Amino acid sequence: MDITLPKLPYGYDALAPHISRATLEFHHDKHHRAYVEKVVALAKQANLSGQTLESIIHNTAGSKEHSELFNNAAQAWNHAFYWRSLRPDGGGAPSGKIAELIKTEFKTSQSFCEKFAGAAITQFGSGWVWLVLEGDRLVISSTSNADTPLAHGQTPLLTIDVWEHAYYLDYQNERAVYVNAVLSHLFNWEFANHNLSGLKIAAPAHEIKSPS
Ligand code: MN
Repeated sequence: MDITLPKLPYGYDALAPHISRATLEFHHDKHHRAYVEKVVALAKQANLSGQTLESIIHNTAGSKEHSELFNNAAQAWNHAFYWRSLRPDGGGAPSGKIAELIKTEFKTSQSFCEKFAGAAITQFGSGWVWLVLEGDRLVISSTSNADTPLAHGQTPLLTIDVWEHAYYLDYQNERAVYVNAVLSHLFNWEFANHNLSGLKIAAPAHEIKSPS
């Protein structure tokens, strides 16, 4: 029983012109797939086959012996969460519960966007920037490389991938233009509200299936 690559939750053209079909094809079909395949192979070696991705992440976080498995499992999970953090015709002002929390924590959605964009643009090297819930407060947090808020007791609400492979085909070195496009046109506030709703994290299913 192995985890499998989840499908993109929209078509390959759905996020254009902000994120192109070419980027989604490489990013999902090659990068995300490679992380999933690596997890399957390494989980076998570690006798962790059949566990959910979340269990593998929790069971390998901080382990020197299993750092490669942790990195690939966290990357697989982060990518599935990222796909769902985006939607066509998204971005702009938040609504619902997340809008109230943003008002409490950041005063205005513009001030939130400036802080979030600042964190995403200045993140040094590869990694992720997250909007997370810590206790009952919203926090903007950054993780390096594969690291994930799941390993730090935070509840992720939305994320942006700031590895170069996420934007280089569309924007080359202009990370700021990519970050602002995501904030203005793609962020999925419904997904953030869903993650806030008290349900367990809406981790996009890397379904466990028997190998075919
Ligand atoms: Mn990526």
